Amino acid sequence: MSSTTHRHKDFIFKRDNYTCHYCGKKFPKSKLHIDHIIPKSKGGKDGVSNFTTACIKCNLLKGSLSVPEFLLKIKKRYIATKARLAYLKRILKNAD
Ligand SMILES: [Zn+2]
Repeated sequence: MSSTTHRHKDFIFKRDNYTCHYCGKKFPKSKLHIDHIIPKSKGGKDGVSNFTTACIKCNLLKGSLSVPEFLLKIKKRYIATKARLAYLKRILKNAD
């Protein structure tokens, strides 16, 4: 984890209300990771707009997949609400 990520950690968790934005569940801080919405391996930036809160389980499942790829992968596991999908689309736009 980069120092930039570390510095923004609390801010991101607070902004996202300690809720994993992939499965929509709330977790204690110790069970949360910061996820790069667009993986660094795919050109994602180390900026607040490219970070989101993810639980350990979702973060591990996501790996280096992009959000659209990941959403396809978890479609069968989680019921993504329209609001959450809209949120993800919005942050994806901002991350450009
Ligand atoms: Zn999750």
